[in-house]
Amino acid sequence: MDLEQLKQTARQMGIVGAGGAGFPAYAKMTDKADTVILNCVECEPLLKLHRQLLAEHAGEIVSMLEEVRLGVGAGEAVIGIKSEYTETIRALEGVLSDHPHIRMEKVKPAYPMGDEVILIYEATGRVIRPGGLPAEENVIVYNVETMYNLYRAVHESSPVTDKVVSIVGEIDHPATLRLPLGTPVRDAIAMAGKITAKRPALLMGGPMMGNLGREDTVITKTTNAVIILEESHPLIMKMQKNLEVERRRASSACCQCRTCTDLCSRHALGHPIEPHRIMRAVANQDISDLSVFLNSAFCSGCGICEKYACPQGLSPKTIIQQFKAELRKAGIRAGSPEAAPIEEGREYKKVPVHRLAARLGLAGYDMPAPLDDAVKEIAMVRIPLAQHIGAPARAVVEAGDPVRRGQMIGEPQEGLSVGIHASIDGTVIKATEKEITIRS
Ligand code: SF4
Ligand code: SF4
Repeated sequence: MDLEQLKQTARQMGIVGAGGAGFPAYAKMTDKADTVILNCVECEPLLKLHRQLLAEHAGEIVSMLEEVRLGVGAGEAVIGIKSEYTETIRALEGVLSDHPHIRMEKVKPAYPMGDEVILIYEATGRVIRPGGLPAEENVIVYNVETMYNLYRAVHESSPVTDKVVSIVGEIDHPATLRLPLGTPVRDAIAMAGKITAKRPALLMGGPMMGNLGREDTVITKTTNAVIILEESHPLIMKMQKNLEVERRRASSACCQCRTCTDLCSRHALGHPIEPHRIMRAVANQDISDLSVFLNSAFCSGCGICEKYACPQGLSPKTIIQQFKAELRKAGIRAGSPEAAPIEEGREYKKVPVHRLAARLGLAGYDMPAPLDDAVKEIAMVRIPLAQHIGAPARAVVEAGDPVRRGQMIGEPQEGLSVGIHASIDGTVIKATEKEITIRS
C-alpha cells in the first residue's frame, strides 16, 4: 500500500494513538521520515497490554511495521521495548530474522521511557526540540496497539471498534480484556471479576497520567487501564486536591530543594522546564521573569515532580498544567527555543518503575493481568464522537437506525479528524452531536 492509501485507510478506519492523547495516526505519516519506531515501553506502573498484545501478534504487528516503513520510505524501523519483557522479546526474535531493516532497542524499565520524546532519544540519539514534533526529526512513533489496529484495517478491512484495557488493582481477577468502544466501566469491571475494595474509586489510565473516572465513564480508543483503588488510597486523595490549596501549600512549604527539576524527565533532555522556579514564582507572586511561566508549555505532564520527586508532597505538575491550559486558552505561545545540551548524569536520574510503583503504594497490585483477546459482548454502548485530538466525527446515523458492528456512525470532519464506527450490532437509540447510544 502506498503512503496516500495508508493515510486514507487510517483516517477512514478511525485509527488514532491507542492510549495517550489519541493523535490521528494518518497525520503522523510523512515521506520525510527516515525512521519508524514501534513503542512497546508502556512505562506506567500496572499497565500490561502492549507487551502481551505484541507477544500474541508479533508476526502481524512486525509485518505492519515493515509495511509502514516501506510506505513512508524510511530506511529503518526500531522496536523500543523494556529489557524486562523477556517473553515478548522472545516472540520478536522469532520473527525479526525475516526483517533486516527492523532492530530492537531494549531500554531500562524506567519511567517515563514510553514518552515518545524520551524514546526517540533512547532509540536514535535525536532530541526533539522543546514543543517540537517527532516529524521534525524525521521520526514517526506508533505504539503496539495502534500498529495492530493498522494491521487489522489494512489486512482485514476492520475499523477500530474495540480497545484492549487492563483492569487491575482492587479486583479478585486482574485481567486485560478486549472491550467494545463505549462499554461503561461498571460492565467492564464485571467482565473481569469482583471488586475487593470497601469504598472503591476508579482511575482511568495509568497512575501517573490518568484521571479519576466513574462507573458510567465509557471505554474509548485511548483507555489503557481501569485501576480500582480504595477511595482512601493516597493516590486517589492526591488526585482530588484543590488547586487553590495547592498554590497556598507551594507558598508555605516549598523549600526550593529543586529535586523536582533535577528529576524532571524533559529538563534532563535539555528542555527549558524548571518546576522549582515555577513554584518559587507562584509562592512569591513574582512575575518579573515571564519565561518561567511560558516554559510550562514544555511540560509533558509525566508527574514525576509531583508523585515521586517532591519530599514535601507538593503539586508542581498540577500547578504547571494549570498555567499551560491558561496560556493555551489565551493563545499565548512559548516560542521555539533550542534544547540545551543533555544533562550530565541523566542516566542516573531515571526513575525505576518498580520503585515508582512502591512509592505510589501500588506494588501490591503489580501482578499478572492475562490477556483475553476475544471481543467481549455487551448489551448497550455509548460511543463518544470525540475520542481523538482534532475535530469530532459528525454523526451519520439517527435514533431508530439499525447498525452493524464496524459500520461508520460518525464521519471524519474537515481538517484533523477520523471516523467513528459502531462497536456492536444493534439499533441506535440516541444520537447527539457528542455521542451515539446503541442497544444490541
Ligand atoms: S521538590 Fe518540592 S519542595 Fe523541592 S523545589 Fe520542588 S516543589 Fe519545592
Ligand atoms: S510533570 Fe513535572 S517532571 Fe514531568 S515534565 Fe512536567 S515539570 Fe517535568
